[in-house]
Amino acid sequence: MLIIFIGPPGAGKGTQAKRLAAYLDIAHLSTGDMLREAVRAGNELGKMAASYMEKGQLVPDALVVSIVGQRLDTPECAKGCLFDGFPRTLGQARSLDAYLSETGRSLDAVLELKVDEEELIRRLLGRAQGANAPRADDTPEAIPKRLEVYRAQTAPLLDYYRQRGLLREIDGTGSPDEVFARIQAVVDKHRE
Ligand code: AMP
Repeated sequence: MLIIFIGPPGAGKGTQAKRLAAYLDIAHLSTGDMLREAVRAGNELGKMAASYMEKGQLVPDALVVSIVGQRLDTPECAKGCLFDGFPRTLGQARSLDAYLSETGRSLDAVLELKVDEEELIRRLLGRAQGANAPRADDTPEAIPKRLEVYRAQTAPLLDYYRQRGLLREIDGTGSPDEVFARIQAVVDKHRE
């Protein structure tokens, strides 16, 4: 099973994606986590990615596509995989399509977690001021940039997948349990 999870920063995508991957027993592939890990490790990829991430900008497609490709080829992804935060641009979506068609696989569904912008800003600023270690890009400077990047570069993917009948919209408001119940209902229906 191959599922893409799309949602703006602050929508709760990371938490829900982790839970959904465990529920479906497939690999959770978060490009944000992979890039943060590379930054912590201080390797070449991390050094290149850090400057983009701190500013709330996207890391260049070629870098991201190459790290995803490496992970997709591992046994961990044999049963399936949940893409969290990838693809983020049309270029990445096309690269993923090309890779999947080469390997004879296809996407099952694209889930869009929807939360209105006022609520997103409230959540993100709350996270930035929160006590538990904020992310380097949860800053009042980077947050508006991340939302703008989402609108300009990632939101066009919604139409791309809608046209192929793959998009499923999910209301991301309410408690994490309420949101997960909606997600579960959508994927369970798909599996029937
Ligand atoms: P996330 O944890 O998914 O919000 O990602 C955090 C940051 O990592 C983003 O703001 C980008 O700088 C970078 N990033 C994560 N995934 C991608 C991607 N698919 N393409 C480009 N940059 C990415």
